[in-house]
Parts: sequence; C-alpha cells; structure tokens
Amino acid sequence: MLTESLSLAGDSYQGMPSGVPQATQNQSAFRRRSSKVHQQSKINNSPMLKLTRNDYDSLRRHGEETYPHECCGILLGRVEDDGARVVTSIVRAGNTRTDSAHNRYNIDPKELVRIQREGRGRGEDIVGFYHSHPDHPARWSSTDLAGAHWIGCSYVITSVEKGKAAVTNSFELTGTDESDKRLQDETVEVS
Ligand SMILES: [Zn+2]
Repeated sequence: MLTESLSLAGDSYQGMPSGVPQATQNQSAFRRRSSKVHQQSKINNSPMLKLTRNDYDSLRRHGEETYPHECCGILLGRVEDDGARVVTSIVRAGNTRTDSAHNRYNIDPKELVRIQREGRGRGEDIVGFYHSHPDHPARWSSTDLAGAHWIGCSYVITSVEKGKAAVTNSFELTGTDESDKRLQDETVEVS
C-alpha cells in the first residue's frame, strides 16, 4: 500500500541519526521513499499533477513578480493511489543563486528541510518543485535535469514572456537513480 510505504519512510526519517547533516538526511530519506512512490506511480501510465486554481495562479504570479529573474518554490501535498500528485499548498522559496538569477535557480537546503518539516506537521509531503523561465520556453533544460534529484516528484516550469506568465508545463522525474533519471511530460489538472 502506498500509504504504508509513505508512513514507514516517514518513520525512518524521524529516526535518522542526529550526527548526519540535515540536508543529507533529508535527501537520502526522501530518495528511499520517493523510489517507492515511483514504483507505485508506474501503475498509472499517464502521470498527473493536480493543483487548485488558486495555487496554479499563485505560482505563475510568482514568476511575474520576480521577472526578469527566476522564481522557485515547493509543492506540498500527497500522492494518490493511482500515482497522481495532489498539491494542497505551495511555498515560495528564495532563489539563492545571485550570480545568474535570470536562468539559474536553487533552493537553500536548510530552507527546504524547514519547509519539509513544517509540511509534515500538517500532514503534507513535498510532491514537487516549480520555477520560472524568463523569456524562455517552458521546457526543461539540461541544467534543470542535472539539478533534479527527487525521483517521483513533479517539476513545474512556467515561461514568463516580457513579465507575463505564458505556458506552464509539468514534468515528472522518473527513473531509479541519478544514472537513468529523466524528466517526462505529465498532465496538469487545475480545478
Ligand atoms: Zn529551468
């Protein structure tokens, strides 16, 4: 059962030795869990991300507000039995890349761990990430793939053309590890 593997993984995360840096704990714990999520999601041949109209508009607006720089944020929610990721809230994150903020984004690992912890307190897990492409298509770049590590999560990209949000696409990071990971198109359902 998906719910069982999720809660088991949650337990192992809680039980991590305290000597391990938090960001590392977070990543390795999530990798184990997300691979289970991914196995489950294979049942569904067409991956899907479900968002409320409010959250969808909010992440697009975020890209307009940070234009001409990239915005980034985190999608919190749950994975349904058929593998669909359901977003129940989004959290805006600061872009730590100041050297090239117009085409690079990065979320501070400490901020990520804090958002994950607070989400779990509300019964929400990280199910994806979003960022914007100022004056660039809403397709993932090789840099995006290289920087994507959360297998089983959604990566949402919004193109922002001359300050206005244009196309929003989502991609699921699939595969088993870093060597065979890939970003696959998925359906975005807004309701
Ligand atoms: Zn990108």
